[in-house]
Amino acid sequence: MLPEESDRTLNIEQTVSTAVASLALDSTFTFDELCQAMQNYRQRKLRVVELAELGDHDGICALWLIMDSEDLVLHAGSDSVLHRQQFVLHEFAHMLLGHGQGDECAVDDVLLPDIPAHTRGRLLRRQDPNSESEIAAESVADRLAAAIRASAFAESRYSEIFG
Ligand SMILES: [Zn+2]
Repeated sequence: MLPEESDRTLNIEQTVSTAVASLALDSTFTFDELCQAMQNYRQRKLRVVELAELGDHDGICALWLIMDSEDLVLHAGSDSVLHRQQFVLHEFAHMLLGHGQGDECAVDDVLLPDIPAHTRGRLLRRQDPNSESEIAAESVADRLAAAIRASAFAESRYSEIFG
């Protein structure tokens, strides 16, 4: 690894840890607890909605719409619950990393299926998947997924012993 590369990895690690810590959650949590913490963090309502056609359109897995009164995360359908969750967690990660500021474009500028034309809001501009912000977002999403998995595991152990 080149010295600049290890610097970059270190920076991303730091960024990721700070983002996850800003949720003020325990080391494990459920998806619902995470949604609640996201709303507290953003100080606004959050809605997660499946839009089945999304995946067919340009290979987009999920979108974060910054509406006047709420955050709206639209995600593609998938047979795998874990896949769907990862799409959503990736968008949560962008929120936690503060990628909503200055990176947006108007909803009207993008062709989206099934989104009413009058929808007012902004949309996180799509990034190059190899960019630092995408790598950081995927890394935050992985950490969140691990905490949710650990919580599900702890719960199933609990019911095994006490259920
Ligand atoms: Zn992204």
